[in-house]
Amino acid sequence: MRVEPDDPTGDWTREGVFEVDPGVYRIPLPLPHDGLRAVNVYALRDSNGVVLIDSGWAIAADRERLDRALAALECSFRDIRRFLITHVHRDHYALAVALRREYGGQIALGAGEKPAIALLSSPDRRPLAEHGEMMARCGADELAAWVRRRSADVRIDPNEWEPPDVWLEETAVPLGERTLQALPTPGHTRGHVVFIDEAAGLFFAGDHVLPHITPSIGFESPAAPLPLADYLRSLNLVRALPDRRLLPAHGPVQPTVHARVDELLEHHARRLDECAAIVAGDSLTPFQVARRMTWTRRQRAFDDLDPFNQILAVTETVAHLDVLVTQKRLRCQEVDGVCRYSST
Ligand SMILES: [Zn+2]
Repeated sequence: MRVEPDDPTGDWTREGVFEVDPGVYRIPLPLPHDGLRAVNVYALRDSNGVVLIDSGWAIAADRERLDRALAALECSFRDIRRFLITHVHRDHYALAVALRREYGGQIALGAGEKPAIALLSSPDRRPLAEHGEMMARCGADELAAWVRRRSADVRIDPNEWEPPDVWLEETAVPLGERTLQALPTPGHTRGHVVFIDEAAGLFFAGDHVLPHITPSIGFESPAAPLPLADYLRSLNLVRALPDRRLLPAHGPVQPTVHARVDELLEHHARRLDECAAIVAGDSLTPFQVARRMTWTRRQRAFDDLDPFNQILAVTETVAHLDVLVTQKRLRCQEVDGVCRYSST
């Protein structure tokens, strides 16, 4: 493997080490069972070693590919000084934990992920239980039953979710030859952070701003009370900063953060209007609203989604409905443990 210049027009998932900026390398790692296809790990190389932004999933394919990529940068797992992780999801965090066990290196993760780590690493946790309860509250009984069946098969390895060495707040992260700003951007998860290299004009976005998809909102345990409100606030926060190059965790590098943030804000404004229009003059559960909407970029019908994606869709719908309640456009009434939304 050789270091190549990054080509944002090519297949962004192709194996390689792609130089995005002097000393900054994009290393896509595969996600075999996942619609996202790959996750970009960014390596910052300087004379003291390597810092990784996100780490990949703790699977052999990712580990081997990362190993080959680091070799092309004339270093190895031993040279990783720090892992700066944008959020707690497996494809970003898990390989860092595995590598730290063998080679050391310090892991930093957003302080807002403390409740997630506490829950995930608890030995008596009931996997997926919160999602099942959420589906029941949303009037999606079949999906709640599906979650209960699935959770019986899920094995828990509490060690997978060891805490980081450092809990990040909004702070400067000095890395020797460059300094990054860590900025909390809750929404996709409660503790999501982005990293900004002001001098180089680079925005390491994690999943906060993705070029081709909208990140899932509200699908986490324990769930935030108003995840979409958090997400929109974080988008506006980023929109108020100077524009920079977008280095996303999934998808190709883009010349501007702002253009995509504008699209995401517009997308959610449209979805909020759509939800309000569906509810108008009726009293509906989030499940009923989700079934009347279309999903993914391909405008698929709810019933054509697999159960997992139906759960994401219902979770996303309730996040929108709850923002409409805070805007006083809708109200929510809970009857027998099921939430129903109607116009104000
Ligand atoms: Zn991700």
